Amino acid sequence: MYDIVVVGGGPVGATAARLSAEAGLSTLLIEEHASIGHPVQCAGLLSSSAFAECEVTNRSVHNTVSGAKVISGKGSELLFDAKKTKAYVVDRLALDSEMVHAAADAGADIRLKTYAKWVRPGLLATRGINGREEISCEICIAADGPRSGIARSAGLGRPRLLLAGIQADIPINRDPRFVEIHPDASPDFFGWVIPISETRARIGLCGLTDIPARFRSFIGKYTDCSVHCVTGAIPLGPLEKTYADRLMVCGDAGGFPKPTSGGGVYTGIRSARHAVATAIRALELDHTAEKALYTYERLWKADFGRELSLGMQLYDMRRRMTGDDIDLAIRTLSDPTILRIIVEDGDMDRPGRLIKRLLFKPELLPLFGRLGISQFLRSMK
Ligand SMILES: Cc1cc2nc3c(=O)[nH]c(=O)nc-3n(C[C@H](O)[C@H](O)[C@H](O)COP(=O)(O)OP(=O)(O)OC[C@H]3O[C@@H](n4cnc5c(N)ncnc54)[C@H](O)[C@@H]3O)c2cc1C
Repeated sequence: MYDIVVVGGGPVGATAARLSAEAGLSTLLIEEHASIGHPVQCAGLLSSSAFAECEVTNRSVHNTVSGAKVISGKGSELLFDAKKTKAYVVDRLALDSEMVHAAADAGADIRLKTYAKWVRPGLLATRGINGREEISCEICIAADGPRSGIARSAGLGRPRLLLAGIQADIPINRDPRFVEIHPDASPDFFGWVIPISETRARIGLCGLTDIPARFRSFIGKYTDCSVHCVTGAIPLGPLEKTYADRLMVCGDAGGFPKPTSGGGVYTGIRSARHAVATAIRALELDHTAEKALYTYERLWKADFGRELSLGMQLYDMRRRMTGDDIDLAIRTLSDPTILRIIVEDGDMDRPGRLIKRLLFKPELLPLFGRLGISQFLRSMK
């Protein structure tokens, strides 16, 4: 009987397993694949805070970036340059491996090639390297990614939306200090060019419909030569309930990626921290039933719940924007005073503060009027 069984060996499950083992709880992490980090399903762009949350060395880091260029389909460009490291471009395979090794070093048992089939309070059914098993545990932490079977088997439902993404690693000459964002490459999200070095970049996009066709058209502007391809899903909109009797759901499984960027490492790891803190307290009090685990949902909502709901509103607004709206937004935000505020207050993980500051800028009122978002803005005051 384990205190904690974690399902999923991504960055979120690895963090939950490490923290749980470090707290002296008997911990098992199970992962369906035979090795950690495969297949890569990520662009590997982590804000400085997200990278710090991973608590790893810089072994997985390919590049650091200080800013971003937003480029409209009509060719307008907006450049933000913080002139200091704002984000890391990492090799997710190396990052995930290092994080799972840290969990093992802390004392967690790791079981690879083991698939979790379903969960009931205190019991997890698996099949894999040890055949069929039913593993007893005090608490299960589900960190089994965007299509979480564990959340579904516990009747917790699914995130509101599932975006599909495709990315290729291509030879291309780019200034390695800047990420490029191409909103028009995917009208219900965006396309990106993330430099790995001066001569290579990850180019990709996410969205809801026509993804392969949009991707072919986007990458066609650059090259036909891809040396590594990534596909995957990004869930947006948290589950209505992220806990049940002896169960907490974390990371992508809970629908925690940020709706403004699709990044899920920062919020996911924060959620793992809250889940383990809740588990430690519940085990101390010998009270692991559903009511005790409500604390988990309270903690993550207090930490980043408001950012997620604001992000969902911004995402819905972005879906209504036309190519002309994007072009106007880029030209309006190019005002030097506005650019300075964006560089000073821009935070990939917590955009709420920046938006509040921009609300009061008269230069932006015509843009807000055109986008028809006055009501949304009033709700933020
Ligand atoms: C195209 C794309 C680009 C992205 N780019 C970024 C980015 O630049 N920055 C960023 O922060 N985020 C990005 N994301 C999102 C990011 O990849 C996820 O938010 C992050 O990996 C979530 O971590 P996780 O541990 O919750 O889930 P995952 O990393 O998905 O890990 C879940 C693990 O659980 C295992 N698993 C699943 N089901 C079972 C089961 N039943 N039994 C056992 N094991 C199971 C899986 O094999 C996997 O190893 C991107 C996503 C996509 C698709």
